[in-house]
Amino acid sequence: MKKTIRLTELKAVVKQAYEQVKNLKGGKNADYIPFLAKINPDLFGLAVCLPDGEIVAEGDTEYVFGIESISKVHTAILILQQYGAEAVLQKIGADATGLPFNSILAILMENDHPSTPLVNAGAISADSLVRPIGDSNAKWNVIADNMADLCGSELTLLDELYKSESETNFNNRSIAWLLKNYNRIYDDPMMALDLYTRQCSMGVTTKQLAIAACTIANRGKNPVSGKQVFTASLMPNIVSLMASVGFYEHTGDWVYSSGIPAKTGVGGGVMGVLPGVFGIAAFAPPLDEAGNSVKAQAAIQFVTRELGVNVFDGVNVEIVK
Ligand code: GLU
Repeated sequence: MKKTIRLTELKAVVKQAYEQVKNLKGGKNADYIPFLAKINPDLFGLAVCLPDGEIVAEGDTEYVFGIESISKVHTAILILQQYGAEAVLQKIGADATGLPFNSILAILMENDHPSTPLVNAGAISADSLVRPIGDSNAKWNVIADNMADLCGSELTLLDELYKSESETNFNNRSIAWLLKNYNRIYDDPMMALDLYTRQCSMGVTTKQLAIAACTIANRGKNPVSGKQVFTASLMPNIVSLMASVGFYEHTGDWVYSSGIPAKTGVGGGVMGVLPGVFGIAAFAPPLDEAGNSVKAQAAIQFVTRELGVNVFDGVNVEIVK
């Protein structure tokens, strides 16, 4: 049976979610990247974007924060578009690691495989794959343009975050060299690492993330610009990557309790995709021990539960005005 949700109901639920969650305590800002430790922990925004471009937003949805690992989805889309789904499966993989985002053990346990473009190893490998091979500036332009196409407007590099992360990313350097050793880096390893660090340091707003999430939900057609950003048939591949590893070692708990494939970042953002229905994003800096925003999780979960939408329950939902 088709479920119909009125726009007024959606607006009321988003408002309620915001009000309920805004005073929620718990978690702390990421501090292994010095820049992130300094962000105001009380910032909080929640936005839903519909396929017709309507955005329902509450709170600090225009605040620009570090996109961090959510950018892994953007670059995964780029290499899926450049190489196709099968080649990405062969070169990187699409498997959940069940381990932290920056795990070296996961690479060793997966017999040299980076597992999925949505963990650090796979994301660095993905950046190495971005065409044109061998040209850092040209690769960066392609990565940044793709992020802008998905988000509906340009993102700007947060120089201080980029510097902060570049000066402290020793674990990621080890990952890049380990992958090089296993022939899983397809360009210069330090160039790939730098591109990865730069994409993580892009500044984004909650609204832009909701638009990117809706572009995915809308099979690649950006709801605001109207641009077809990726081939429509890639949507299930993208959403399945998010569903399997978007919350790292907490992914099972997340999809079980929220019913929506989503991707987090240590900057405090989360973006979720309900295929064909909407994109949702939330942002609040304090994170749980797995690196996922406490308030963003609670807010998105509130919305999916109140609306009764769940990707595992069929997505036969229409939002009407
Ligand atoms: N740039 C961060 C890192 O590589 C991203 C981590 C995350 O957002 O999960 O550590």
